[in-house]
Amino acid sequence: MRICPISQGYRCIPRANQAAQHSPAIWRETPPMSRVWDQRIVRASHLLSAHGAHEKALRFCITVLQFQKNLYLHIGSKAFAKVLTHPAHYTLSERLELRLLLPWFPSYLTMLSASAPAPLASMARQILSRSRESWESLLVSYWKAAEANGSTVESSFQIIARGFLQPYAEFLMAQSRHRDELSETDSFCPKCRHRPQLAMIREVGEDLRFSLLCSLCAAVWDHSAMICPNCGPQAAAQMVYETDPYADYLSAQGCAACSVYFKIVDLVKEPAAVPSVDELAFSTLDLTMAHMGFRKIEPTFWND
Ligand SMILES: [Zn+2]
Ligand SMILES: [Zn+2]
Repeated sequence: MRICPISQGYRCIPRANQAAQHSPAIWRETPPMSRVWDQRIVRASHLLSAHGAHEKALRFCITVLQFQKNLYLHIGSKAFAKVLTHPAHYTLSERLELRLLLPWFPSYLTMLSASAPAPLASMARQILSRSRESWESLLVSYWKAAEANGSTVESSFQIIARGFLQPYAEFLMAQSRHRDELSETDSFCPKCRHRPQLAMIREVGEDLRFSLLCSLCAAVWDHSAMICPNCGPQAAAQMVYETDPYADYLSAQGCAACSVYFKIVDLVKEPAAVPSVDELAFSTLDLTMAHMGFRKIEPTFWND
């Protein structure tokens, strides 16, 4: 166990160029958004062939990404876009159009039943056998969890609901015209109020930024590396820091106060990394942190 010696180095560095301070605070992936899914699939395939890392997880990841891409393309189709009638200034939590998404839910659950790790596959089969009302209740509970200040939905259900709703949330996020007020201490996504999935170190102009990636809508916001994104600034907790022995651009930071950890993807060291894919390709850190008594800030398909 080591205490992070360099977290100050990841703190947002003030911009030298004052004019640049007025640029949008939310970072978006390069449009068109559908390419984002291809980038993820290509990266997962590359990691699989180049490193053979976490093979089962990556193969399953590619299957899920392919489903999500198809759903995303459907959502972005003219017919679907036409019926998204809420004004773009609505918050994401006010804009769940389940009647349009639910027809895709059975095929999603069937895909999980066939390809997911055993416990999740079994959960997916269980959900598949339930009523349409039960599906709606599950998806709404997850989508609106942030409003209730935390999800009451069981972890495995959360993972299943999130995987299904991610393409829709990313579609709405890409269309949002919000200019959000962001804070370096905000632990929840400024777009959808869900928790971050991971952190990343990235270069913006001459600055090094420590940023968080939303677990649902993939928005990115800057954060202080010295503040735990789970328990916030009130806890002046010690941070435990571990690096991945097989990938030096991956690390994990755990908070001694709340026993929650998250992974950090260093895009300066590995510019080709796709954070949401790379973090799951190497599982050693997850095992290390779990062994030390930490739980992940947001469980994923592969870390439940
Ligand atoms: Zn979000
Ligand atoms: Zn904490």
